[in-house]
Amino acid sequence: MLFHIPSSSLYQSDVPDEVNTDSGFACRGSDCMFCKVKEELQWQPKQRPDLKIRSIALNIIERCNMRCHYCFAGKGDYGFDSSMSMETAIRAVDFFTQDQDDLHIVFFGGEPLLRFRLIYDLVHWCIREKSDKRFTFALTTNGLLMDQEKLDFFVQHRFSLRWSWDGPLLQGRQRQLHGTKKQSSAASDVIGSKIRRLSKGLSELRSFCLRATLDHNSLSLAIENILNMICSTDFRVAWSRVSSSDSQLRFSGEDIEQYCHVFEGVVSALLKEKDYPSLLRIRSLQTYVRVFHSGSYHRNFCGAGLEYLSVSTRGRFYLCHRFTEDEEESLGSLEDGFDMKKIKAISRHRMMEDEPCQSCWMREICAGGCFHEHKMGTGHIMTIDPFFCQIQDTEMRQALRVYLEMTVHAPELLE
Ligand code: SF4
Ligand code: SF4
Repeated sequence: MLFHIPSSSLYQSDVPDEVNTDSGFACRGSDCMFCKVKEELQWQPKQRPDLKIRSIALNIIERCNMRCHYCFAGKGDYGFDSSMSMETAIRAVDFFTQDQDDLHIVFFGGEPLLRFRLIYDLVHWCIREKSDKRFTFALTTNGLLMDQEKLDFFVQHRFSLRWSWDGPLLQGRQRQLHGTKKQSSAASDVIGSKIRRLSKGLSELRSFCLRATLDHNSLSLAIENILNMICSTDFRVAWSRVSSSDSQLRFSGEDIEQYCHVFEGVVSALLKEKDYPSLLRIRSLQTYVRVFHSGSYHRNFCGAGLEYLSVSTRGRFYLCHRFTEDEEESLGSLEDGFDMKKIKAISRHRMMEDEPCQSCWMREICAGGCFHEHKMGTGHIMTIDPFFCQIQDTEMRQALRVYLEMTVHAPELLE
């Protein structure tokens, strides 16, 4: 198979051994397959991405009922310990729907279920007062306050839900309940059994994903823990490393090697069983396999700052939820509108005209990566963190491995 970088497509071919894939392909005379591919794809230069905010994270509360030592928001309070008023929430919805018909609203915190009443009121307000607009809703939660009644509401309003759960082996080690000093093995049991108890409703949501965070102390248990998460539920699973500039938490080069090894280990274990449905429940694999199969590409890694931003409790705009209250990455406010100088710089950066992105084999899929990971690794959102690229490289190569096996053993699943 040939991987065509500009379109992220795979081509089946009888490439002779002597072809040197590093130095490119020389024309092989009449009917040259490489020339044909080049001609067919006629790659157009990308358009500079514009500002069109389709999605906002509403930080409805900067406070949390858990204390996870790896939290990017300090103690879950971003140093403010404040709440968004209904008036600010309404102003935000008004602001972002003034020139468009659709808006995706992510309720974020802190722990947003501490403000369930505001979520309930705002959803009903949107439906009642903005009936000419289309809304979709999402929630990111630790799930401690989730119950059947709230879940029914989220199902009724077609929410997407992301539930942070570190898995049976790690939840208790890494996350404490607020107000306790002890490791909360109870939190692990409570959350795990709650997810199983609510699984029917969770599967009726627009989408649902479990998300684990791995710190460097937990890497030795990570493969078993993740396989356990995948095999004990039917839900999509995602995991990531701690993203922090704190030297106590930051991953070393050795940790990154081990983290990549975890990804490979999980994939190998499931490939050995030919368990392709479970492999496709790993969120990043699912995304990349879809990209390879459809030959699509990403204009943006995540849309932060151009299609998506976060609104703080006080109505200030930030690059994304992880940058809330980081004044360096503020992009304006409900009062003052957008900071267009910063937004133009982000748009330019996403064109990937600079190295190392410009000559990266993953550039059309990764599209410059995560600003937050870069900032935590290098101190600047636009200075690429090589550890981030190393992880991307591992995930995409594993996705290629899964995809190629599936084309042979499970082509029906790809469709
Ligand atoms: S993997 Fe790294 S170098 Fe490649 S596009 Fe992503 S951020 Fe840029
Ligand atoms: S910058 Fe990183 S954390 Fe923020 S939305 Fe993008 S991928 Fe997510």
